[in-house]
Formats: sequence, structure tokens, C-alpha cells
Amino acid sequence: MVVPLSDSGGSVPRGTELPGHGATFGAMLEEFNAAARLLDLEPGLWKVLTSPKRQIVVSCPIEMDSGETEVFTGYRVQYNIALGPAKGGIRFHPTVTLDEVTALAAWMTWKCAVAQVPFGGGTGGVACDPTRMSRRELERLTRRYVAEIADAIGPDKDIPAPDVNTNDQVMAWVMDTYSMHAGATMTAVVTGKPLELGGSAGRREATGRGVSIVAREAARQAGFALDGARVAVQGFGNVGSVSARLLRRMGARIVAVTDWKGGVYDERGLDVDAMIEHAHQYQTVDGFPAGRPLTNEDLFRLDADILVPAALENQITAGNAADVRARVIIEGANGPTTPEAHRMLHERGVCIVPDILANAGGVTASYFEWVQNRHGYFWTEEEVNERLEAKMMAAFETVVKTAGRYRADLRTAAYVVAIDRVATATRMRGMYA
Ligand code: NAD
Repeated sequence: MVVPLSDSGGSVPRGTELPGHGATFGAMLEEFNAAARLLDLEPGLWKVLTSPKRQIVVSCPIEMDSGETEVFTGYRVQYNIALGPAKGGIRFHPTVTLDEVTALAAWMTWKCAVAQVPFGGGTGGVACDPTRMSRRELERLTRRYVAEIADAIGPDKDIPAPDVNTNDQVMAWVMDTYSMHAGATMTAVVTGKPLELGGSAGRREATGRGVSIVAREAARQAGFALDGARVAVQGFGNVGSVSARLLRRMGARIVAVTDWKGGVYDERGLDVDAMIEHAHQYQTVDGFPAGRPLTNEDLFRLDADILVPAALENQITAGNAADVRARVIIEGANGPTTPEAHRMLHERGVCIVPDILANAGGVTASYFEWVQNRHGYFWTEEEVNERLEAKMMAAFETVVKTAGRYRADLRTAAYVVAIDRVATATRMRGMYA
């Protein structure tokens, strides 16, 4: 039986303004509201789906190498679990806040629903500067953070994964700490692990692979071929570097790359593999011995066919959207375009493939990793990549079709698909107690 939460719908109900939330969650809410209006969502469900289920804030005291004690603030937000256990990254960055983590957890909810993986949305983070910490300090911090949230996570509760400044080594420490508390090796508690510890073939490249697949499809929709297309990439970490490498392999020309320190431009196309080597050695693409130096501001102004923001939130804003000249934007990062910038670009006919679709390859391969861990049986990289391609294509086609049906942009259409799926599950489950 389907339980109606309320009988009338269609406008933003009162009580959805949550205290303590800032600009990033506000941006998510604006995107949500546009789609919920199109769906004529009932006010009751509107409130449920805009309220984080659980927000955890912990203090993580650790001993630094100097012998001094430092206390870091950690967060884990489980935004919604209507479709399955919460799923989402752990971020280590100085600017991590409850607002940011809550917005990221909400985006994970919609992303899992768009990708049709049986998870809800969660995200965690610790406000710290990993560039100023030793490996031992990072390990102590990871272990203390996981110990603080251990009761809230688990293979059937909430499954973390890598995000900004966390990698497979950090995920190995997460798995080991949780396993020590459980008294058994629990590989399915976290994804993005090293292959030797139950990681999945293809997971590390999966987000960038998904980005390259939707870029290829979006270019086709926009009426140009990827072969020879000019691509600019902001951020050259996991998502940016893999996206650049795979797009290059598909025939695109990577003309510009920037990161936190600087960037490089070469009209003839950059040698992406050599840049990955350089970034590995120097932790930045700055100083790469080719082309000419480039700033983040210049990157957005370039006459590129495709722009891939793959760094952090709020990079394309009302302040620089008018300068963006790309025909297609593929959001590798979460929340890189503010709602106002999105409106300005959409009005100019720029095609924006939203984060909750464009970077869903990562969580899709994480789902594959979780399935393999629970089966204790592993797939080949070809199997992972084939299934990933099928899931990304299905999600892309559903969103494009929905955009046509509702005469909406791709972001609103992706939210329509996601909200509809989460709302349907919530109606079916009904209200507990
Ligand atoms: P990462 O830490 O591997 O790389 C981040 C990159 O961004 C680095 O090159 C860094 O130098 C650059 N950067 C940081 N601040 C910058 C700034 N102010 N200007 C320009 N560049 C800057 O992180 P990642 O895992 O590649 O994640 C990047 C984005 O993709 C994030 O928004 C993340 O949430 C999102 N994402 C990641 C995954 C994943 O599987 N790793 C999945 C989905 C979405």
C-alpha cells in the first residue's frame, strides 16, 4: 500500500529552512526546489526530503609528531536512507563545515537515485590541512575519526569512500579501524580500498571514466564530435586527471589544466600522461615544462568546447559565468556551479551535465565493490568497465528523456528523476511511528 504523506503539493512548504545551514546547502535546496515544483511534490515529502536524517559532529584529539595534542572537528551526515544504506565520501580539507558536508550528503542521495544504485546518501569530512600533516599524523587522525563514528557506519548502515584529499590508503585505515572494533575483517564497510584489501578493479578510474562517457554523449547531443574537441579541466586530482587521460584517449585535445597552485595552457594539446607524472612528483601541475602558465580565472575564459570543473564547489559563480565560453560543461566536481551561474549559462544555451549525473561513475563502481565484497568473488576490470558504461548510459538517457518531457534543463531533470525515486520509496515505506 502506498501511504500519502499529504494530499496537496506544488509549492515550497514552510519549515524547510533549516537553521545552521549555509550557502552550499542553500544551493542544493534551490536546485531541489525547482524539480520538486515540477513534480508537484506533496508538502510533507518536501519537508522529509529536505531534512538531513542524521548529522554527527565529533572532536578528534590526536598527538602530533611534535608531541603536542591537536583537536580536529569531524563530521558525518546521513542525509537520507530511503533507498538503502548511506553512501558517500570522506573529505580532508581546511574548509570542511557541517553546511558543506550536509550538501554533499544530499547530493549523494540524488546521485545514487539517478544512477540506480541501492544506496542512500551520506558524506563525512574532517577540517584539517593534510598538506601540513605527516603520514603518521594522517593515519592517527583517520583512525580516531573512524573510532568516533564507528557506531554509525557499517556495511548495512553507511559506507564511506574517498573524496578530496583522501585515497585508497586512507580507506585501508578506515577498514582496519572499523574491523578492529568489530573483531572481524569487514571489507564491505568502505569502498575505494586498495586492490589487495578487497578493492575493485576499475574503481580508482571510475569517476573520471563516467565523466568521459557523459562528455562523449553530451558532445554528440550538442552536435560536435569528441575527436579534436578542445577540453579545459579544473583540478587534476583523481577525477580531473583520469577524466583528462580518458578524454584524450577518445580523441579530445586537452588544452588547459589548472589546480590549487597554478595551471598550464597549450593550444596544440597537453601530454596528459607526462602531466600526471609531474603532478605525482610535485603535487601540482604548476611548473609543467610545456605550453604557458594559466590561472583558474583564465581557464574559465578559454575558448574551449568542453569545460570540466573537477576541483571543489562554487567555482563557476555569477561573477565569472559571463566569461565562460565553453559549449558544454561536465561537472566532475560536486556543486562547482552556483544556481545563479547555472541560470546565466543555461540562458546562453550552454549545456551543463550536472554533478549528480556526471560524476556518478564513482559511486556506481563503489556499489560494484560493495557487491563483490559481500559475495567474496571479484570481477575483472573489463566486467567492471562494461557494467559501468551500461549504468552511465542508462542514467544519461533517462535524464535526457526527462528533460524533454518536462522541458527542463539537465540538472532539473536529474533532480526530477532522483526525487521521484526517493519519494516513491518513502511513500511505500510509510512513516515509522
Ligand atoms: P583530489 O583531492 O584527488 O583532487 C582535487 C584537485 O582539485 C587537486 O588537483 C587540487 O589541486 C585541486 N584544487 C583544490 N583546490 C583548488 C582550487 N581552489 N582551485 C583549483 N583547483 C583546486 O579530489 P577528487 O577526488 O579528484 O575530487 C574532486 C571533486 O570531485 C570533488 O568535488 C569531489 O567531491 C568530486 N568527486 C570525487 C569522486 C571520487 O571518486 N574521488 C567522486 C565523485 C565526485
